[in-house]
Amino acid sequence: MFDVVIIGAGLAGSVLAERFASSGKKVLLIERRQHVAGNCYDEVDANGILIHKYGPHLFHTDDAQVWSYLSRFTDWHLYFHRVEAVVDGKPVPIPFNFNTLHAVFPKSLADKLEAALLRNFEYGKKIPILELKKSADADLQFLADFIYEKIFLHYSEKQWGLSPDKLSGAVTARVPVLVGRDNNYFSDRFQAMPKLGYGVLVKNMLNHKNIKLLLNTDFKEVMELRGEQTYLFRKKFKGRLIYTGQLDELFNKKFGTLPYRSIDMKYETVDTEIFQSAPVVNYPNNCDFTRITEFKQIHPAKTPRTTIVKEYPLDYVAGKNEPYYPLFTDEARGAYEKYFDELSKFKNITAVGRLAEYRYYDIDDVVKRALDVFAELN
Ligand code: UDP
Repeated sequence: MFDVVIIGAGLAGSVLAERFASSGKKVLLIERRQHVAGNCYDEVDANGILIHKYGPHLFHTDDAQVWSYLSRFTDWHLYFHRVEAVVDGKPVPIPFNFNTLHAVFPKSLADKLEAALLRNFEYGKKIPILELKKSADADLQFLADFIYEKIFLHYSEKQWGLSPDKLSGAVTARVPVLVGRDNNYFSDRFQAMPKLGYGVLVKNMLNHKNIKLLLNTDFKEVMELRGEQTYLFRKKFKGRLIYTGQLDELFNKKFGTLPYRSIDMKYETVDTEIFQSAPVVNYPNNCDFTRITEFKQIHPAKTPRTTIVKEYPLDYVAGKNEPYYPLFTDEARGAYEKYFDELSKFKNITAVGRLAEYRYYDIDDVVKRALDVFAELN
């Protein structure tokens, strides 16, 4: 009856569902939650503001293929993301750049550090903080130590519950110093938000006669793996299975639980038009939460009140909270490899996405990966 079964209607699963359906295949898409779009899901709240239910998701890409593919399903509102971090009690722009130098240091010191950056690196480059830390230049070492302590160390300890030496380069590369004056968080060619949100974008994507969507359905209610065979509704299934969930769940945790980091999102209404000086303000120090997002600054709305979310990181516990980030310890990677080897025995199953591939994909990476998987399998 179905040529392709896809587990998970997040972006990875939904892009693949659309691609296969548009190529004439019959697709069954199974989703445990009562909505599509995975952790990108958004909805208009009681204040009339479009909020992201699973924390802020900002779209940015350098990939023209990803941009034009998604543009088939949504209009955009141009949006250049800005983030500030509270340093010594004051919000300053990040990535740390020349403007930040002048916001935190007296002019003579800021000028000296600016000159040191320009002496060592090309204008416009982004230097990961750990790379800057290795610099032989004493001024840059001072700057690296400052940023490491004030922005990176305590934020990362809170976010990951690990000491920084256990974090992978995929994480540390996300805290750069910009040799320049641009306060924008991203420098990609395409930066915008789906005009009516990701939920609507994905619904448009899935609006296809060849896609049968089952919401509120755990894959174990309809699928089973036995021997090296997949079964759908208790019959052998010879088609393609795309799995976008956690690999340990697919194999009943036989090699142990794969660790993910979760976040307790605490949404609040504040009785003021605008709450903070940037759409996202990070609190590396002195608070239990890592950051506050104000959605009205991402999706403009003329409302008397505003909605914010504070993020409190914690370990993922199945059934209690959501798995947001794969936790990159060597041990966890070892366990993931075992699951991946197990998966490879099933010739008709492909793992795609942040959960299933255990990778820190951004939104555009996931879309690209799904398009590539379709090209490989088609
Ligand atoms: N980070 C940090 N201080 C900051 C912002 C980020 O140390 O002010 C580190 C931290 O380890 C975090 C990572 O960079 O987990 C990625 O942060 P980003 O906000 O880019 O990622 P997101 O959580 O939105 O995926």
